Amino acid sequence: MQRKIKESMDNQGTTSILQNRIVLFPLPFQGHINPMFQLANILHSRGFNISIIHTKFNFPNPSKYPHFTFHQISDGLLESGVPISDPVLIIKFLNSNIVEPFRECLDRLMFDYHVECVITDANWFFTQAIADRVNLPRIVLRTSSICSFLAFASLSLFRDKGYFSNIDSNADAPIEEFPPLKIKDIPQIETSNSEDVFQVIGAMVEQTKKSSALIFNTFSELEEPDLPKLHNQFPVPTFTIGPFHKFFSASTTSLLTQDMNSISFLDKQEPKSVLYVSFGSVASMDAQKLQEVALGLANSKQPFLWAIRPGLVQGSEWIETLPNELLETLSKQGYVVKWAPQQEVLSHFAIGGFWTHNGWNSTLESICEGVPMICSPFFGDQMVNSRYVSDVWKIGIKLEKGLERDEIENAIRRLMVEKEGDEMRQRILCLKEKIDVCLKPGGSSYQSLEKMVDFITSFRSSTA
Ligand code: UDP
Repeated sequence: MQRKIKESMDNQGTTSILQNRIVLFPLPFQGHINPMFQLANILHSRGFNISIIHTKFNFPNPSKYPHFTFHQISDGLLESGVPISDPVLIIKFLNSNIVEPFRECLDRLMFDYHVECVITDANWFFTQAIADRVNLPRIVLRTSSICSFLAFASLSLFRDKGYFSNIDSNADAPIEEFPPLKIKDIPQIETSNSEDVFQVIGAMVEQTKKSSALIFNTFSELEEPDLPKLHNQFPVPTFTIGPFHKFFSASTTSLLTQDMNSISFLDKQEPKSVLYVSFGSVASMDAQKLQEVALGLANSKQPFLWAIRPGLVQGSEWIETLPNELLETLSKQGYVVKWAPQQEVLSHFAIGGFWTHNGWNSTLESICEGVPMICSPFFGDQMVNSRYVSDVWKIGIKLEKGLERDEIENAIRRLMVEKEGDEMRQRILCLKEKIDVCLKPGGSSYQSLEKMVDFITSFRSSTA
């Protein structure tokens, strides 16, 4: 109702023009917050005023963004008893429990400003109905790769074909409908009731189809072969304007404190000698797997920088389950931190490889710096990203057996010391060069951003 009104009356009866504004609504997880804020910065630099709606859960630090307005909505998550380690349950809970707070907040913003559109994470599927009701365009930001998004969109097909029942018995068999995926690469997410995954992903896909447009943090040269399939299944305007983080200096939306000693450690190392190890902000493993990782690293004898997030090891505070002797060996060989300034780390001269869970931000950040990878996906889109990294782009080695010390040691040697690693380094450097070109005037992401800005600006005339 409110967005048709471009003028408002103050209490003296004077008419003033309402300010144009875009409202952004990130999903409250590190890997989703970072790209949404990067997008907000990109739009701000193109002259748009920005308001952020955010849940109380994982509320980011507004002081780092004085140029945005922040609007916290209550979510009841911490009081609900939903386990913080279960992203599917969290997403399901929030999508049904914050409908009213979100609607009220959006109404208020539409009263105070001329809101041009709302940009929400794809996982905020409840917001499409609200945007439709108030006749506001909703643009979806999908923070992962196009290839993994298409795999999620095929989840029901995979189930109908019976692939889920073969995940353990026939894990290495190819999925004919989705090369190069194997059955074990299906983007599964562990949760208490597996039906919830189908429900949440199904709603995400269906509501994205109803949106006004779709934004990806990727670049078209990387995912060109999948673009026709995407356009076919999601016939809305699509903008590939990534990698977002390359528009500005390093991200400042970290929820954890980044240990800058990581950089002092790297400064003392030989060029391309250090393996950076991190499995992101959500993945977790048991104490036995932690030990396999530690032994694989120790046996490889390569220098490393390992970011072990508190909470990575199930049932432990941090790394207290590792034997003292092993800790001592590791401390002579590398450096362990709780959370690293990842983008600075990856761009450091001393880094020669990245052992990653292949979250999409980590994967893109690695490509941007020309750092080849060892791939250990844990769940969801990481499964698909890692298969593309190893089999399509050929810029990484996938640990096919999971976390097993001998395979780890072997992969580290192949990546860091052998010719195979050098060849991957050459290939990823070619992609890095493509990124440099795509962000410059005339490049694919640059042009896509221009089109997106025109697209958003066109709402002004249609709603004036
Ligand atoms: N990150 C960081 N320090 C770390 C590990 C990760 O700053 O020690 C950042 C990383 O740069 C990336 C984000 O956290 O931007 C992780 O996002 P990603 O999509 O890779 O994985 P997720 O955490 O969502 O699984």
